Amino acid sequence: MEKEKNAKQSICPVAKKCGGCQFQGIPYEKQLEKKRQLVKQCVGDVRVLTPIGMAKPEHYRNKVHAAFGRDRKGNVICGVYESGTHRIVPVEGCMIEDERADAIIATIRGLLKSFRIKTYDEDSGYGLLRHVMVRTAHATGEILVVLVLASPILPAKNNFVKALRAAHPEITSIVLNVNDRHTSMVLGERNILLYGKGYIEDELCGNRYRISPNSFYQVNAVQTKVLYEKAMEYARLTGKETVIDAYCGIGTIGMTAAAHAKQVIGVELNPSAVRDAIANARRNECKNITFYNEDAGEYMRRLAAAPAGERVSVDVVFMDPPRSGSSEAFLEAVSLLAPKRVVYISCDPHTLGRDLDYMRKHGYRPIECQPVDMFPYTDDIENVVLLERTANRNESKRKSAAAESGNRGYQKELRKVRAAAGSRRPKASKPQSGKRAH
Ligand code: SAH
Repeated sequence: MEKEKNAKQSICPVAKKCGGCQFQGIPYEKQLEKKRQLVKQCVGDVRVLTPIGMAKPEHYRNKVHAAFGRDRKGNVICGVYESGTHRIVPVEGCMIEDERADAIIATIRGLLKSFRIKTYDEDSGYGLLRHVMVRTAHATGEILVVLVLASPILPAKNNFVKALRAAHPEITSIVLNVNDRHTSMVLGERNILLYGKGYIEDELCGNRYRISPNSFYQVNAVQTKVLYEKAMEYARLTGKETVIDAYCGIGTIGMTAAAHAKQVIGVELNPSAVRDAIANARRNECKNITFYNEDAGEYMRRLAAAPAGERVSVDVVFMDPPRSGSSEAFLEAVSLLAPKRVVYISCDPHTLGRDLDYMRKHGYRPIECQPVDMFPYTDDIENVVLLERTANRNESKRKSAAAESGNRGYQKELRKVRAAAGSRRPKASKPQSGKRAH
């Protein structure tokens, strides 16, 4: 009875065209079981725990974005790209998105006509408004609206901001983002402040974080806490460790760990995220953390290449790469640095499986994998895996050198894993139609 109710509740009118919720209509418990099976297929010989699900698996997405355009009759529409295309499927409301964000997007659509703001046409390059992104902060309630325009000039911008704020006094900041490129990326690099601070602040695991439009932040705040707590449990920090937070984003994992470690080093490629991370460390008075704006693989390689006497001794590595997984350079450097434990956080079980295989061959044993359902109703699943060092430093060095030539098999390995799991194409870290970017 309960299951039937769940199944009925989850039918969305645009589910098929949108393609974002692959598990529509499947009772939640069953979704979790399917995810566990998928993870088991991908990660090989490691204990996979039951996925941790949500008590209320709806409206969890704190980052919502809508593409803007026109239908055949010329009416303004907004929503998501139809699976595999750039045709917009109008979306009125979405069962996984924050409802406040959806309401704001609907208001913006309604305001366009009176402000004579044209939507952007991808083919002709004519028009102004491309996307709207809304970010909501779970703990503080702050809301950031990002208007993504093809040009930096928004006519009557003050009145537009006034009208939007009048309809939604809950909005705490509005930013104009300029994206004048022919690209499938939603945001451009330039942000112009229209109202408020230009970012939201949220609270997570006892710290407060600023999150700018271009910085990554986990989309499901409730489950992020669960994920981080598990990651900290696996790390078993005592206060004496040197810890690396690789692919650190705005520094959330590193700052959570810093309270229980001697020192933390955060590495992140995106300059916007690093700026946020530095501001966040200051804000939280976190003094034992340092950030490097660099490719994580390059950074680790440099660290590993330091002469033995000068080499930083790393005890624990947290790594949380994008969907494409980590790089050989990174993994090889980890094995050379030989930390006791690696805590691998991943949003793609396929690339996770590939990377775990590499680590197995380079002196590490995956001990346990905890799936955490960050993305209910979709076929995505987040995982946190504890790896422990099995070989001593020299042994792993030797193995690493020996395996160097074998590294070419790395991509081949991934293809094999995917084929075995009857799987989909690799996911890019860029937003793709029919698939949400986290
Ligand atoms: N750990 C963070 C962010 C995880 S998302 C959190 O929990 O919020 C992955 C992050 O990796 C993103 O911030 C992305 O900008 C960054 N990234 C992607 N490729 C990278 C690379 N080659 N080197 C370092 N960081 C990278």
